[in-house]
Amino acid sequence: MAGHIEALIQAEQPIFEADIIDGKAFAAGLTARIKVEVAEIRSNCDKVPGLAVVLVGEDPASSVYVASKRRETQAAGMSSFEHRLPDTTSQEDLMELVRQLNADPLVHGILVQLPLPRHLDADAVIEAIDPAKDVDGFHIANAGKLAVGQNALVPCTPLGCMMLLKDLLGDLTGLHAVVVGRSNIVGKPMAQLLLQEDCTVTIAHRHSRDLASLTRTADIVVVAVGRPEMVRGDWIKPGATVIDVGINRVVQDGRSRLVGDVAFAEMGHARAITPVPGGVGPMTIGCLLSNTLEAFRRAQARDRASAKENS
Ligand code: NDP
Repeated sequence: MAGHIEALIQAEQPIFEADIIDGKAFAAGLTARIKVEVAEIRSNCDKVPGLAVVLVGEDPASSVYVASKRRETQAAGMSSFEHRLPDTTSQEDLMELVRQLNADPLVHGILVQLPLPRHLDADAVIEAIDPAKDVDGFHIANAGKLAVGQNALVPCTPLGCMMLLKDLLGDLTGLHAVVVGRSNIVGKPMAQLLLQEDCTVTIAHRHSRDLASLTRTADIVVVAVGRPEMVRGDWIKPGATVIDVGINRVVQDGRSRLVGDVAFAEMGHARAITPVPGGVGPMTIGCLLSNTLEAFRRAQARDRASAKENS
């Protein structure tokens, strides 16, 4: 267990019975399995899964994310194509790059790092990505497929949350899940995934009344709001599972640290909780690799089908 979490628990809550979900270890296992699969692909065919990442501008946090995506992609044995563009890039130039990547047979996944500089229309860029290469799962075609239960590429963060939940709880049928937050990249797809697992799902947001009484009825609470430690211990019923997606930097006693959207130290009565950092965060890149591998496999299947048709 990370030292800072131990310190939190000891300092603030002597009885802490909740399991701490180790997303870092789970993600390491996931990427190790992907690495083995990619090695098998490499030994059996002349193609390799390829991920293209596009970064526009100099945002330092985005630059760090992109560098770590490149490292992980290469470590998994996949091809990594990085496109760093100046923040003066025009909409048309960015759209042209997306069109080129759509047509490139070596690229199976395309990710445009968000946020984009303010003069660029992110929605238009996402809609220009071939849905079959949309490994972020943000394209409206993938969102629609997820909503109707078809084979979508699913956004990485909720996909990672669902992997952790299934690993911990197994069958989720009939459980009541409350998702706090309704963004297109986390809250809404998370709710769809829980619905697919036959949970009863409540989606809460800024206008929800008496949020604490809603979350208190839940067996599973997923929080993605971007508000440091908003969810308190008495919002959670004993034995519930808490997934904290939030990543917030706070300064306390002159020291900067990351906290989630959930008051971690007050969650000792939960069945289990993801820590921040080390919970959901590490799953996101693992799921990006998993989606890239999936996009590659689907492309191979389409190639085989069209070769058969033409023969
Ligand atoms: P958004 O800002 O897009 O959405 C936040 C959501 O929270 C909105 O639906 C908003 O409601 C809701 N909300 C805000 N305040 C309240 C409140 N007081 N009560 C109830 N609901 C509220 O954020 P994201 O979904 O993109 O991200 C959420 C958090 O997750 C952030 O901390 C982000 O950093 C983190 N994150 C972590 C990732 C990871 O890899 N671990 C990946 C992505 C995000 P409304 O719609 O009504 O405005």
